[in-house]
Amino acid sequence: SMKVEIIKCLQDNYSYLLINEINQNACVIDPSESKPIIDFVEKKNINLKFILNTHHHHDHVGGNNELKKKYRAKVIGFKNDKDRIPEIDIFVENNQTWTNEDFEAKIIHIPGHTSGHICFYFSKDKIAFTGDTLFSLGCGRIFEGTYEQMFASLNKLKKLPIDTKVYCGHEYTLKNSIFCSQHEKNNKNLEKKIFEIEDKLKNNLPTIPSTIGEELACNIFLRAKNLEDFSKLRDLKDNF
Ligand code: ZN
Ligand code: FE
Repeated sequence: SMKVEIIKCLQDNYSYLLINEINQNACVIDPSESKPIIDFVEKKNINLKFILNTHHHHDHVGGNNELKKKYRAKVIGFKNDKDRIPEIDIFVENNQTWTNEDFEAKIIHIPGHTSGHICFYFSKDKIAFTGDTLFSLGCGRIFEGTYEQMFASLNKLKKLPIDTKVYCGHEYTLKNSIFCSQHEKNNKNLEKKIFEIEDKLKNNLPTIPSTIGEELACNIFLRAKNLEDFSKLRDLKDNF
């Protein structure tokens, strides 16, 4: 079976190790920097085989170079981003299943934050790495895409099974929760989730993973009825 280890990086980034518990072979998802990954891999005798990048931003690929050099791990990224993902070895595209002896992930192209943003969805274990597109209780800023694209990308993620675990790129959950509660009153599910978030943070624990089901119930960006409502919320959040 697969295990996910959460590794804090930089200010508020999360990198993740997806570990095949049978042989300790692992993928790292979005290594912001190499040091915390190396420390963990060495301590736990993990075999780092693959580096998976959801998008090309520096806080998601900063560790590529070092990790590839040290472990001869292969870098996997979106085909159209081959010129801006450092050290890329394997190009993937929308709807492709990326597979090997240890891992199998469906690639879901989810543009908006960047034009080449992808989600790695490990369907057997119902684990989704959503990068800076879907956050817990939020969504990413639209840097390269349109509102339409981001809205469509979130709609793709909404269709994953409700018990899918969501691992995103940043610990933004508390601030996101304040925005959600300001713009949707009397959401009991949200109130309950905020209680849980505060408890985790108080104990110095990540608020991640969330689930698709919880996000459907609480995340105002997934609850927006249409593109117009979504776009208004996205603008408000940019200045929040
Ligand atoms: Zn980003
Ligand atoms: Fe980021």
